[in-house]
Amino acid sequence: MEMDKDYERKCYELAYLIFPDVDETVDDLEIKYPERNTLKEGAIVTRIAPSPTGFMHTGSLYQAMVHKKLASQTDGVYYLRVEDTDQKREVAGSVKMFTEELKHFGLEPDEGVLAEDKQVGFYGPYIQSKRKDIYRVCAKHLVEKGLAYPCFCTPEMMEKTRQMQEANKIVPGYYGVYAKCRNISIDESIERVKNGEKFILRFRSNGSHMRKISFVDAARGKIEMAENDQDVVIIKSDGLPTYHFAHVCDDHFMRTTHVVRGEEWLPSTPIHLDLFEAMGFKAPQYIHTPLIMIKDGNSKRKLSKRKDKESAVSYFIKAGYPPEGVNEYLMTILNSDYEMWKSKNKDKNYMDFEFKLNKMSSAGSLLDMPKLNDLCKEEIAKMSGDEVLDRVLAWSKEYSKDFYDIISKDLDYSRKVFGLERDNTQKIRKDIYKWEDVEDTFRYFFDDIYQKELEDKGYIITSLTEEKNTITKDIIRKSLEEYINVYNEEDTKDEWFARMKDTAQKLGFCVNMKEYKAEPEKYIGSIADFSSIVRMAVTNKKNTPDIYSIMQLLGKDKVIERMKDTLSKI
Ligand code: GLU
Repeated sequence: MEMDKDYERKCYELAYLIFPDVDETVDDLEIKYPERNTLKEGAIVTRIAPSPTGFMHTGSLYQAMVHKKLASQTDGVYYLRVEDTDQKREVAGSVKMFTEELKHFGLEPDEGVLAEDKQVGFYGPYIQSKRKDIYRVCAKHLVEKGLAYPCFCTPEMMEKTRQMQEANKIVPGYYGVYAKCRNISIDESIERVKNGEKFILRFRSNGSHMRKISFVDAARGKIEMAENDQDVVIIKSDGLPTYHFAHVCDDHFMRTTHVVRGEEWLPSTPIHLDLFEAMGFKAPQYIHTPLIMIKDGNSKRKLSKRKDKESAVSYFIKAGYPPEGVNEYLMTILNSDYEMWKSKNKDKNYMDFEFKLNKMSSAGSLLDMPKLNDLCKEEIAKMSGDEVLDRVLAWSKEYSKDFYDIISKDLDYSRKVFGLERDNTQKIRKDIYKWEDVEDTFRYFFDDIYQKELEDKGYIITSLTEEKNTITKDIIRKSLEEYINVYNEEDTKDEWFARMKDTAQKLGFCVNMKEYKAEPEKYIGSIADFSSIVRMAVTNKKNTPDIYSIMQLLGKDKVIERMKDTLSKI
């Protein structure tokens, strides 16, 4: 649009009045923050842009995985920018939390804010509240071009317009004839600014919601939407930019090639494209990630910050989920062909996989916790006893201090405990998927917590009498009395088992499962029942790893002591 000379001059005057101290121009910024020409052709520059609200949503972790993969696959850059323009919502400590949580999952960025007090890179500052000068240069540019104007409307006036639009079923918003300050003369604007009247800055859109625009979302394909015609706020009364304006300025001057963000931003994309065009910048490639859903009865719903503990990344850390397992899971919901690839490449992991944008689903991704748990179990099953011990120590030191003190008392012993059915075996036990369950699973190895369980839950051995009426308390007592007399710690596993069978048979248990199944009424129970009596007397658990190894680890004194204790209590 050709501006008339007088109007053009007045726009410059207005821009100068609003930004008298801004000397730099957009061209200066272009030189200061040049294109990333040192990157190879096709390198993707992507960013995670958290707002410091004290909470990292599981969706952000999911996006972080996309950033990490896209950048690392193309030798590009993945950076972190803190979006703190909404200072009312700011929670202290958020940046520390966010960067540490990303690190925990191995999804830390290459550039930008890497820790609370650490920024790396030439495109900074990477914290929006420190970039005021840049936004002012860009806003001044728009005012000069007649593409931004001061808006003096009060919240009360805005509310009145909104009500009027609602009552008359008019598309809501600040646009066209409803954009009061858009339609005042430039002379009046200048006058009112000179008079010190309070204002914010709005974009002057030349779009119309009657027209359509289309753009390509790299994951969803071509998207057609109504053009933007809203004169959105670009600079607020506190001098900080809105998300819309900061996004355009920052992603341009940080030379982002791909903007991966939640689908809640999809409806605002026409605003952003409008702003990019007004600034004369090339828009990035957009990728809107689907919402994360969770099962609720028979239906699915959006993961809710209020209702679902799984909506916070911190939940997975506090509960002690192995990050590898969580990441494996994220990849299965990110790329539909991941599981197929994984089944053919069992010893590789998500970092070896080639992530493809066109294999991303646009429908909500279901956070299937049982599946996530299974993948975590698989990852823990790959760890040696030493590794499990190290991880449990690190986790409990932070989140379960009492348990940490207990397992660190005798590290050699703990190492053996966690190595059980893990080291030197083909048949690895897959019973743990998060570290917070370790204490309960292995409680019987540690006297202090074992005793506490007996006090709280009682002796579960008595439940055997409910399962089979032939197994009476008297039989349990006799079995234990007998077994205490014959138990020999020196036995090899075979000798131990032979002795178990021998004792069981004497008491009337059947030691051959086939025979037992054929005529169960002939016996008081099977060898399996007898083993259960021993197992429960020693561990107070129904299922455990191999009971022979457990008894060996506990040592004769403790084994006998526990059996005697059970005898005296039932
Ligand atoms: N700060 C925005 C948010 O937390 C980031 C959106 C984006 O990635 O552009 O939702």
